[in-house]
Amino acid sequence: MGKIIEFENVSFRYEADEDGMLLPLALKDISLSVEQGSFVAVLGHNGSGKSTFAKLTNAINIPEEGRVLVNGLDTREEKNIDEIRRIVGMVFQNPDNQIVATIVEDDVAFGPENLGVEPAEIRSRVDDALNAVGMYDFRESEPYKLSGGQKQRVAIAGVIAMQTQCIVLDEPTAMLDPNGRKEVLSTIKRLNKERGITVVLVTHFMDEAVQADRVVVIDNGRIYLDGTPREVFSQAEKLIAAGLDVPQATQLAKYLNSNGIDIRTDILNEEECIEAIFSLLRSK
Ligand code: ADP
Ligand code: MG
Repeated sequence: MGKIIEFENVSFRYEADEDGMLLPLALKDISLSVEQGSFVAVLGHNGSGKSTFAKLTNAINIPEEGRVLVNGLDTREEKNIDEIRRIVGMVFQNPDNQIVATIVEDDVAFGPENLGVEPAEIRSRVDDALNAVGMYDFRESEPYKLSGGQKQRVAIAGVIAMQTQCIVLDEPTAMLDPNGRKEVLSTIKRLNKERGITVVLVTHFMDEAVQADRVVVIDNGRIYLDGTPREVFSQAEKLIAAGLDVPQATQLAKYLNSNGIDIRTDILNEEECIEAIFSLLRSK
């Protein structure tokens, strides 16, 4: 598998503030690459640099030092930017800021129209994208009447219709209710598994990060942990030190273990926890 996004020793700083004071680096010496077709979750407490990271992936932010390559294209080169944004699409936290049209299907068509795609091709892309996110039946609806989760799925359809190979989502479920969160997460997972779309999901929900292939934790502008969900979440002390939670099921298993019960401590979710408790009971 090739690498779709590569960060090479990337540092980034926002423009000096109104007093002209040089701001500290928001990201420091980040090196990492994202494999084509993978599902990567990015975790970190508020202000750790997650959004800054996300915006470096499609040339909204440009590195101060180091470089970011998207399919080998350097984001520092002006001439690469259109192509880069055709490869990596972004979805943000607030669905209301992303929907521009007054009818769902017009909104989804907006991206491909801007790319100059032929009308017949746009039609088929819009239908396909709305089907992919389970919103085809709402194609003629007015976005303001939709739930938060539905709006976020329309925003995702807008990216799908541009046929980007990679979607970067910056806390797309933060403003949603539990149902909306589930809808959006299952949509993202399906796009990754069935269409091979590379997913970078910035989130502060542990239960979402657990579902990724890989979890990258950013702390204070640096990469703090990077591994499979099991590798990362088994390091509870380190996560807590970075101001993050540990998934509830992992916490429970650790608690039981520290109280003398012989249970695995690398448990990620309720199902694994139940299975481990059953096997303990069976072995008695
Ligand atoms: P996160 O998304 O993890 O909450 P951000 O990437 O938004 O973190 O922010 C990282 C750091 O950069 C923080 O210290 C934040 O205050 C600062 N920052 C973010 N956006 C700006 C901006 N537009 N101008 C100046 N500083 C910013
Ligand atoms: Mg953010």
